[in-house]
Amino acid sequence: MPKRIETVVFHDSSTPLIGGVEKAGVVVVGNLELIGNQLRANALWPLTFGLACCAIEMMATAGSRFDLARFGSEAFRATPRQADVMIIAGRVSKKMAPVLRQIYDQMPEPKWVISMGACASSGGVYNNYAIVQGADQIVPVDVYVPGCPPSPDALTYAFIKLQQKIKHNKFGKLIELKPRTVEGASA
Ligand code: SF4
Repeated sequence: MPKRIETVVFHDSSTPLIGGVEKAGVVVVGNLELIGNQLRANALWPLTFGLACCAIEMMATAGSRFDLARFGSEAFRATPRQADVMIIAGRVSKKMAPVLRQIYDQMPEPKWVISMGACASSGGVYNNYAIVQGADQIVPVDVYVPGCPPSPDALTYAFIKLQQKIKHNKFGKLIELKPRTVEGASA
């Protein structure tokens, strides 16, 4: 008779209450969805990608003074194939827009986007023919960070909001895998 895991118990010091059940500092989680979301939310890998002045603040966020590593997100990747968070740090020019979209498409699922700064979110002070008036015209944005430029604290807060969003994510219908049948083979 195969055994079935029904309850998994583990510690999480950063978010002590996730499943609604807590016993003496121990969180009891009852399903795979919660565990998967928890793992995804606490190991976000941003893409190394900056467009303008906001990118300087993004770099500072990963430095020792602000220490994004506290939230498991300091591992900036140099390739979209290893990243799951795109931070659009700076204004998006119309020439850059197709490149931005291509890089987004190269990121594996699941993936998320943070729009950092007034320029990325709405065009900001660049209300002209050359700048896209909002990055969400190019890629779907999960979190918007206001400011010009937003401080590293504001970007860190955006990561916290993104983590909260991921933790409430629904996996959807699981794909049922059927065993492959080989012609001529006996069962
Ligand atoms: S929001 Fe401000 S700091 Fe950021 S790209 Fe625009 S002008 Fe530069």
